[in-house]
Amino acid sequence: MTAKEFIKKVLFIEILKGLALTLKHLFSPAVTRQYPAERREPFPGSRGLHALVIDEYTGKAKCVGCGLCAAMCPSQCIYIYTSEDEDHKKIVNRYEIEVLRCVYCALCVEACPFGAVALTEHYEYSDYSRDVFYYTKERLLENWNKYMAGQKGKEYFEKFWRPKSEDFRNSKEPHAS
Ligand code: SF4
Ligand code: SF4
Repeated sequence: MTAKEFIKKVLFIEILKGLALTLKHLFSPAVTRQYPAERREPFPGSRGLHALVIDEYTGKAKCVGCGLCAAMCPSQCIYIYTSEDEDHKKIVNRYEIEVLRCVYCALCVEACPFGAVALTEHYEYSDYSRDVFYYTKERLLENWNKYMAGQKGKEYFEKFWRPKSEDFRNSKEPHAS
């Protein structure tokens, strides 16, 4: 131990420094928010409740049921059920997310080649029943209309995510609903 360190220890310099810092903050304004009376607007692009994207031109879900999002999901909380129509075109019968198991990593959004799944900015969705957090395809599509419709949805993919639908050669092909 050096002489300087010894003097610091004897005179409790570090403790005094800590106390001075506490004293300094004692009289500064509090930063605590009185939630829910005081709410903060979510930051753009923050990761909240899931939504399935609706194509603005066709009015249908963009999801083609490829299953990449479910394969990437570390929580394994995405369930996709598909079938084929008479032309052997895939139909997404069910697309479900068990939201309570989600860790909001957004790998599903990154993995999707069609920009068909999103995390909205909506984060206030507590409830009393677990069932409410099992989101069906219909509810996920509703979330898009509720929280991401119009310009907001466009900006979401424009600003925060790659790849986008147009990065893929066959993105103009009609999607299954
Ligand atoms: S955000 Fe992550 S954990 Fe949640 S559904 Fe997507 S991939 Fe799964
Ligand atoms: S959301 Fe995207 S990745 Fe997931 S099944 Fe649909 S098209 Fe595939």
